[in-house]
Amino acid sequence: MRMDPPASAQDAPGIALAGGAAGTIAVAGAAAGAGALDPLVMEDVRRVWGFDCLRPLQAEAIAAGIAGRDSLVVLPTGGGKSLCYQVPPLAAARMGDVRIDVCVSPLIALMKDQVDGLRTNGYPAAALHSGMGADERDAVRRAVRAGEVRLLFVSPERLLAPGFDAWLGSIGVRAIAIDEAHCVSQWGHDFRPEYRQLARLRAAFPRVSIHACTATATPRVRQDIVAQLELRDPLVLVGSFDRPNLVYRVEPRVDGRRQLLEVLSRHRGDAVIVYCLSRKDTEGLAEFLRKDGFQAACYHAGLAPEERHRVQEAFAEERLDVVVATVAFGMGIDRSNVRAVVHMTMPKSVEHYQQETGRAGRDGLESECVLFHSYADVVKWQSISESSGAEARDRLEASGADGDAIASLDDSLAQGRAHLDAMQRMAGSAVCRHRWIVEHFGQAWTPREGGCGACDVCLGEVRMLPDSTTVARKLLSAVVRTGQRYGAAYVADVARGAETEEVARRGHASLPTYGALRGEDRNVLVNCMFQLVEHGLLERTDGEHPVLVITPEGLRSLRGEVEVPLRAPPRGRGRRHATAREVHGAHEVDTALFERLRALRRELASQRGVPPYVIFSDATLLEMAARKPSTLEELASVKGVGERKLADLGETFLAAITTG
Ligand code: ADP
Ligand code: ZN
Repeated sequence: MRMDPPASAQDAPGIALAGGAAGTIAVAGAAAGAGALDPLVMEDVRRVWGFDCLRPLQAEAIAAGIAGRDSLVVLPTGGGKSLCYQVPPLAAARMGDVRIDVCVSPLIALMKDQVDGLRTNGYPAAALHSGMGADERDAVRRAVRAGEVRLLFVSPERLLAPGFDAWLGSIGVRAIAIDEAHCVSQWGHDFRPEYRQLARLRAAFPRVSIHACTATATPRVRQDIVAQLELRDPLVLVGSFDRPNLVYRVEPRVDGRRQLLEVLSRHRGDAVIVYCLSRKDTEGLAEFLRKDGFQAACYHAGLAPEERHRVQEAFAEERLDVVVATVAFGMGIDRSNVRAVVHMTMPKSVEHYQQETGRAGRDGLESECVLFHSYADVVKWQSISESSGAEARDRLEASGADGDAIASLDDSLAQGRAHLDAMQRMAGSAVCRHRWIVEHFGQAWTPREGGCGACDVCLGEVRMLPDSTTVARKLLSAVVRTGQRYGAAYVADVARGAETEEVARRGHASLPTYGALRGEDRNVLVNCMFQLVEHGLLERTDGEHPVLVITPEGLRSLRGEVEVPLRAPPRGRGRRHATAREVHGAHEVDTALFERLRALRRELASQRGVPPYVIFSDATLLEMAARKPSTLEELASVKGVGERKLADLGETFLAAITTG
């Protein structure tokens, strides 16, 4: 149809440059509202996506996108960033703008999923990437030329490849959205060199508006994004970092595997990610879970690429429930119905914790994040940081680096320690977890009566050991009586009166503290000693064979002058109000029907070669299983059922609901 951009393209509606439309746009933090939006835009959202309302800041971001004002949109994972750059091209088209929007995405898998999802909604999207054959790419280029594509996904390297930018220029580009924009910053957690090239974008497309999206919370990274991409007077929209649908639980790790099984027992058949520190741990744990009847696989950077791909795909296609992984399992997991993220060890920063737990519940339904931690994790991170620091220093010195380089290394090591400290404080705190995280990221927390209702602290699940001060005293005493020469496990054995060969050989069975805590669980006592280290009552010596020694503060506790609170491993759960999976609005969810709809979705997805959530999200299936629509009209009012899906899938799902 259309071949070339009209000469007037640059004057087309929506090209207002720097600040031109600022007056009509709400600023960061403003209450959500579609007030600033043309009602026709909401009509698009309803028709294409089947959503009745926008999430916080989506309206503002969409308005900036339509107006062609540069923007930086910071929303937590699951906050709905995609819609912010998917809606404006439709509005621009309606207003007669013939140019195309481009979205830069870091991974082929992410692009494919987005395009599949959009096309299922009848949205004119396409991607160009290296995973496609030449014929396929030609077809996309022709479709773009013919004006049949409104949003084109490309990788950063392709966007700036010689010739490609010229080709795009000849098509006419309206706006460029940068997904996962933190990848441009080396201060972020996922710096990508190919993203760094995007610094040339402004020069290559001087008249095009740029819209950066990220979930990254730190101000430094945000500033860097604005600087690197040379955003002009950008509208910066920063959403709340709270994820109200996530239930946080933090527990001392006493018997990790048993504790994990307890969590998984609440999530049979659900998608769960279990994070471990080492590759070996992921392998052992996945094997253990498989023996226990779970569909589990491990994932880490040491696996062959094909194997990694296989695991990721099986997880996305809902053929695999549990992935036991290192942090290498991250970006590109687009499964929106991950119901639990479990950390077997403490991550090295709250930022990492937020990022990793953020993968749970992207569909907005209740999901659980459980962190098992112990002081041993802190020790592990410290030793990793020390050895990599020492290596880096050796390298610097060998290469004759100057004092500045070494000072900057020291800086970054100190920063690492500060991050670890913050994480440790969060794990040990008895403050509402939601509040702690939100305040950590510098945002204000609005307290709610009765607590947040979605963390172990507010749900009253945090249990203290009965007589914890006495237990602490007995353990401190065992440390002193055995001569401050042993590690936690041995001291625990003495305290609980274990009859081991070592205890006998060292003559410790005759000590007055021997058996002072008879009948207690060894793991619980070891964990208590770690807590004493965290409280500063014991100290762990450096070196190859660290031992526990008492501190002056510890001596005061030993004399009974100080109360010592010790957390007990949790027992059972405070019952939470009915979960989103049991009720939906005024309706009870028919869980059997929900499972049948999930199976139907899986089948349709596999026939079409798309991930299941592209068909319908869990949130949409749940609403169907609760409201049980019996006509197409009723089905159309379910959130997530747009016009195209109604026509395409409506009868099939109605049949499944009514014959249920
Ligand atoms: P992000 O990229 O910020 O992590 P997504 O754009 O993937 O988030 O959106 C997360 C989920 O929320 C998706 O399932 C999406 O369909 C849904 N969603 C987005 N906006 C809305 C909305 N306004 N109403 C209902 N659901 C929405
Ligand atoms: Zn809370």
